[in-house]
Amino acid sequence: MKLFTVGPVEMQEDILQIGAEPLPYFRTAEFSEKMLKIEQQFKQVVNAPPEARLTILTASGTGAMEAAVCNLLSSQDKALVIDGGSFGHRFAQICQCFHIPFETIKLPFGQTLTAQQLAPYAHKGFTALLVNLHETSTGQLYDINLLSRFCQENGLLFIVDAISTLLADPFDMAAYGVNAVITASQKALALAPGLSFLITDGRANERIAHNPTLSVYFDLKDYLKNMERGQTPFTPAVGIILQLEKRLQEITAAGVGQIIQQHRMRAEYFRNACQRNGITVASYPKSNALTPLIFPQGNAYDVFLQMKEKFGLMLTPNGGELAGSVLRVGHLGNLSLTDYDLVVNRLKEILP
Ligand SMILES: *Cc1c(COP(=O)(O)O)cnc(C)c1O
Repeated sequence: MKLFTVGPVEMQEDILQIGAEPLPYFRTAEFSEKMLKIEQQFKQVVNAPPEARLTILTASGTGAMEAAVCNLLSSQDKALVIDGGSFGHRFAQICQCFHIPFETIKLPFGQTLTAQQLAPYAHKGFTALLVNLHETSTGQLYDINLLSRFCQENGLLFIVDAISTLLADPFDMAAYGVNAVITASQKALALAPGLSFLITDGRANERIAHNPTLSVYFDLKDYLKNMERGQTPFTPAVGIILQLEKRLQEITAAGVGQIIQQHRMRAEYFRNACQRNGITVASYPKSNALTPLIFPQGNAYDVFLQMKEKFGLMLTPNGGELAGSVLRVGHLGNLSLTDYDLVVNRLKEILP
């Protein structure tokens, strides 16, 4: 079975090997040293400002989304949520759960987020913007320039779920004035699922310090304090941290630009092949992380099943309303261009 999913994804052999090793105890100076190195390299990956801090959570990506909301926002805030799919919707759900006042910008499927949609929300008392920069459920990549400018003009705290865009598309925390970046282990980092990350700048850390947090496990004050010495308040997923250490060394050696370029090449190669073969690709702005294919006849899920069962090719199906019309092909993880020849050829065999 080959994965063209968006997490977990195909992992490299050297990373898988680390997963087979016995685990060390982690309350040691040696482990702390690894953690501090990870913080430094992670900050480079997102180009974080010098005062930014890394929090490592043992939780899936949603855990970091929840931690961001319940530590950075309070009932005094008014959040604006871009709800362009299931992940945007999740932010709204989390705000609701923690009684954070919020409004959503609902983006119907297929519609591109533009300045016109943001305009009515300018100078309306909002204090924060929550966005999944790449809305993975549709494959739309929002315009970070547009969102960054809007936050700056309105003085909003800019909270970005970059889980599925980081390392796939260019990203720059400092240049875009992002206050908190959320990501996770199983997407472009191509590690086992189980870790999620928050990188918070000075303004965000100030908020964390003064906000009463209605969670024990997700109280970031504890994480930031512990991380000063390279530790976590609770037992972390030690094995994935060792995989992360290795992966960050490789990314740092290759250069972040090089990793993004790899993803871009796969996405372009596959999209060009689709076009030559009459396979419809969604037309809105897209991340290099995946290609959303459109099936106007409503047979997307059936194609997914056939690709999986006949050919061992695991594409990424959509749930809910889009189950019949959208099928996503992932570009993250240990894949090569020839893998996409196979996907296109098999799709051609299946499609009427
Ligand atoms: C994958 C993903 C998440 C996290 O999902 P989990 O299943 O909780 O790891 C959150 N936001 C986006 C945009 C994602 O792609």
